[in-house]
Amino acid sequence: MERMALDAIAEHLRSLDIDVLHEDLEQYGRDETMDLFAPAGIVVRPRSTPEVVEVMRLAQQERIPVTPRGGGTGKAGGAIPVQGGIVLSLEKMNRIKEIDASNRYAVVEPGVILWDLHAACEEQKLWYPVDMSSGGSCLIGGNLACDAGGERAVKYGTTRAQVTGIEAVLMGGRVIRSGGKLAKNSAGYALHHLLVGSEGTLGVITEATIKLVPLPTHRRTLLAAFSSMDTAAQAALEVERCGATLSAVEFIERAAAALAEEMLKVQLPHSDAAALLLIEIEGFSEARTQDEIEQVGTLLLDAGADDVELAPREKVWGVRHAVAEATKMLPAYSACDTVVPRRSMPKLVSRAHGIARRRGIEVVCFGHAGDGNIHIDFIKRKEVDANWDQQIGPAVRELLKATIELQGSITAEHGVGILRREDMPLQFDEDTLNAMKEIKRAWDPDNLMNPGKVFPEGTP
Ligand SMILES: Cc1cc2nc3c(=O)[nH]c(=O)nc-3n(C[C@H](O)[C@H](O)[C@H](O)COP(=O)(O)OP(=O)(O)OC[C@H]3O[C@@H](n4cnc5c(N)ncnc54)[C@H](O)[C@@H]3O)c2cc1C
Repeated sequence: MERMALDAIAEHLRSLDIDVLHEDLEQYGRDETMDLFAPAGIVVRPRSTPEVVEVMRLAQQERIPVTPRGGGTGKAGGAIPVQGGIVLSLEKMNRIKEIDASNRYAVVEPGVILWDLHAACEEQKLWYPVDMSSGGSCLIGGNLACDAGGERAVKYGTTRAQVTGIEAVLMGGRVIRSGGKLAKNSAGYALHHLLVGSEGTLGVITEATIKLVPLPTHRRTLLAAFSSMDTAAQAALEVERCGATLSAVEFIERAAAALAEEMLKVQLPHSDAAALLLIEIEGFSEARTQDEIEQVGTLLLDAGADDVELAPREKVWGVRHAVAEATKMLPAYSACDTVVPRRSMPKLVSRAHGIARRRGIEVVCFGHAGDGNIHIDFIKRKEVDANWDQQIGPAVRELLKATIELQGSITAEHGVGILRREDMPLQFDEDTLNAMKEIKRAWDPDNLMNPGKVFPEGTP
């Protein structure tokens, strides 16, 4: 039945010259979430908002699920079409419509690759500071839908903090517009902020207005080595006392760095350290940047660093960025994207190691220590490991419970998708979860927008 409806939709869309793929759909059934897969019925690649409207009109009419898709780099399974139907890939809506240098805003379509936007802004000495290692493949629409964070969130905030306006198409084809190139705007509900982080469950983002900042002229990275993981985690908090807002404060425990080093065939200094911190300092004056480097270096040494040095940026960031990729190459891993209030971050790292030790599995911690967002990957090194199979589910659950006890969140920047949907009741009481479901039902009463995501199975 659904197949016939999909074929009819595909034929109709093709007659309007809308790009529909029928074959080679395999890649549209996956993202970067472990080995999850579900096949797409058809893949539609619109080039404009009116084309999206037409798809959403037909989907509502025929009761066909729609899964929006960006670059497919998501780590929670959000772009996987768990109920088949239409995968709506925004990859061809990739125009940077405007870089308004005088007001410092960009207006972009959702299919712009993050690093393409960086390059376009940099040409005008401007900057879109959200950055992450998937930046060569992830799309702005995906960043918006997940409220992507990345390493500079510690200074600039996550994607939500950059977005001042959105155009979106709701199920059925209604187009809504909220916000604009406005630093202040208190008219009505901020629907653009509701859409950010909604993971494609409320509508399809077709345009965004985002803030830009002046491009810093100086940027340096300090590498600090510690012989204790706990001291490193505590030191990540101490550096705040320098008074400047640092643009990245990243923690990598040595075992995590070693996985990346092995994959990249490079070696960072301090191979015997227990953990490393990477601190980025940026600014607009050589003297001031130098001054901050010295202050931060002294704070790190006072906080227990064995050594602090100015690091070759590409090499150290290369290793940091490769950690997630390296854990993926192991026989198995289970990634947790936890966040706790900054001061509790050392406790979370220690709890993660305690859980792993007791259960006889391995764990590596790395990530955005400056804002309390630590990626905790349980890893399996042997192909066959019965203990892993038994322990991994309970270990993840225990870690998520510990995160909530520390007043944290089960996901900081990757989103809930399918990976964390069953864990939502750990974080939200019934009334709060119901309030979210009511919004979902009001905007999408037939549950056709990216169904099977965010809420526990069988709801909303
Ligand atoms: C190596 C690596 C490193 C990473 N590092 C980080 C990091 O530091 N910080 C971070 O935040 N993330 C990180 N990620 C995760 C991922 O890159 C982000 O979640 C990114 O924002 C996803 O963008 P995407 O375009 O690939 O989205 P997709 O994976 O295609 O989709 C993600 C979600 O967005 C929805 N969606 C996509 N486009 C739209 C649209 N136009 N309208 C409505 N919904 C839409 C999809 O339905 C899905 O629910 C990393 C991933 C990898 C593989």
